[in-house]
Amino acid sequence: MEAHALADAVNLRGVEYRWNTRNSFTLSIGAFQVPRGERLLLLGPSGSGKSTLLSLLTGIASAQAGSVEILGQPLNELHGSGRDQFRAEHFGIIFQMFNLLPYGSVIDNVLLPLNFAPARRARTVAAGGLESEARRLLTSLGLPGDIGRQKAATLSVGQQQRVAAARALIGSPEIIVADEPTSALDENRQQDFLDLLFDQVDASGATLIMVSHDRRLAQHFTRVVEFADILTVSKTEGSNR
Ligand code: ADP
Ligand code: MG
Repeated sequence: MEAHALADAVNLRGVEYRWNTRNSFTLSIGAFQVPRGERLLLLGPSGSGKSTLLSLLTGIASAQAGSVEILGQPLNELHGSGRDQFRAEHFGIIFQMFNLLPYGSVIDNVLLPLNFAPARRARTVAAGGLESEARRLLTSLGLPGDIGRQKAATLSVGQQQRVAAARALIGSPEIIVADEPTSALDENRQQDFLDLLFDQVDASGATLIMVSHDRRLAQHFTRVVEFADILTVSKTEGSNR
C-alpha cells in the first residue's frame, strides 16, 4: 500500500492485455512512463484502447503480462480490496460518462471515493472538513454554491462533468485520470472546463493523464503522446466480422 515519493507516477513495461471476451483486441505496450507532475494528453482514435489503458493503470483490469507500477507500487502485488483501496487513495478518476450515482446528492457523489480511502479522507478532514472541501471544489469548478443537495440526475451534462471533476480532486489524490471528459461539450465549454480543471490540478500538485481523440486539446498539455507510439502491436479485429 506504500507509495514511494520519488517513483514515477506511472511506469509500464512490456504490458500485454486482452479482454476476456471473444473480441480479439490486444493491447501491447513496450514502455510508457509518466513522471510526477506532468499534464499529459494521450491521443488516439476511437477504439485504439485508450479506455482499456486507463483500466490497466487504475487496476480495474489486470495485465496478463508485463509490469504496471503506480507511484512505485507494482499493481500485480495487490489483490481484491487492497487493490481497490490503492485505486481510491491514489487516483481521481473522471470517467467518460461521469458515472455519478443518479439518486445521490452532489455532495454524496463528490465524497464517494473517500469511503474507500482512509488517508485521502483524513487529508480532506484536515484541509477543512468533508462538506466544506466538497463545496470549495464545486465552487472552484464554477458550480453554484447551493448545488450540493441536488440529486445528480437533475444536473445538466456540463454540471455533471464538473461534479465528476470535484469527485476526482477531493482529498488531493496524486494522479488524476480523465477519459475524454470534454467529448460531450461544445468548444467554448471545453475550454472553460479545462481551465478550471487545470487550476485545481496545479493547486493540488497532481499528475494529470487525459486521453482523447481530439487533437485540438493538445495545446493545453505539457506533453502529448500519440497512442500509436507506445504500442508494440495493436489490432482491433474479430468483434465486427
Ligand atoms: P478507446 O477508449 O480508445 O475508444 P477502448 O479501450 O474502449 O478504446 O476499446 C478498445 C477495444 O477494447 C475495443 O475493441 C473494444 O471493443 C474493447 N473493449 C473495451 N472495453 C471492453 C470491455 N469492457 N470488454 C470487452 N472488450 C472491451
Ligand atoms: Mg474510450
